Amino acid sequence: MKVTSRELFGFSFYDGDLPELLEVLENKIEKKEKVQVITANPEILARGFEEEELNKALKEAEIVVADGIGVIVASRFLGKAISHRLPGIEIGEALMKKGEEKGWRFYFLGGKEEVTYKAVKGLKTRYPQLRVGGFHHGYFRDDEEVIEDINRVNPHILFVGLGAPRQEYWIRRNRERIKAVVMMGVGGSFDVWSGTKKRAPQWVRKLNLEWAYRVICEPQRLQRVIPAFFNFIKIVWKNKRN
Ligand code: UDP
Repeated sequence: MKVTSRELFGFSFYDGDLPELLEVLENKIEKKEKVQVITANPEILARGFEEEELNKALKEAEIVVADGIGVIVASRFLGKAISHRLPGIEIGEALMKKGEEKGWRFYFLGGKEEVTYKAVKGLKTRYPQLRVGGFHHGYFRDDEEVIEDINRVNPHILFVGLGAPRQEYWIRRNRERIKAVVMMGVGGSFDVWSGTKKRAPQWVRKLNLEWAYRVICEPQRLQRVIPAFFNFIKIVWKNKRN
């Protein structure tokens, strides 16, 4: 199956729309071909240039999508326009919707104990046919125990919400031992699915200001966002000059 992609910063970005991506992932599930999906925002990309392991994760993941208006704007500025911005939470929700129809099994890993539980409960109400194979909070020490539980379920789809880039590292380090086909980092999505945090209203998202909404709701994010923003600008500028 042909995957629409674009080279940017030395990484290969998937550049189809959401229905196309679902088709690609469905195909992988049918063939039982493992896929790591990374939703890359400017912060992850900036760190990907500094941290070797993250750089490898971004190069090796089968699907990297642009998540964040910053990536889209930078791609246009560099003359390699990526057309589709695909937030992880939306890919996750689309997969669950499709999964109801296809009978896919899901495993949910991440978030605080009560958050994971509430998220799964809420998702079962929203997607009544959703097959929840299992779930586990994200504050564990023993990888083995968690991997054993995932493998007991043998899910088609594993959502890992440990925050980026921890989740990307965790998937990369363990992917060969995990019996799951699609493995995707979903960041703070469990907090939203549990109702603990709210996503930006639709009109804010339409204005591409979801990042600003998150900073306003969680000002401590600024500590992460500001240095990442400047690093990202530096990288874009360097790429432009080259
Ligand atoms: N988290 C976790 N285990 C950890 C650290 C974080 O499960 O050891 C969870 C945390 O509870 C939250 C998510 O990871 O649900 C991180 O959310 P954040 O919004 O910071 O992630 P981002 O979307 O920015 O990657």
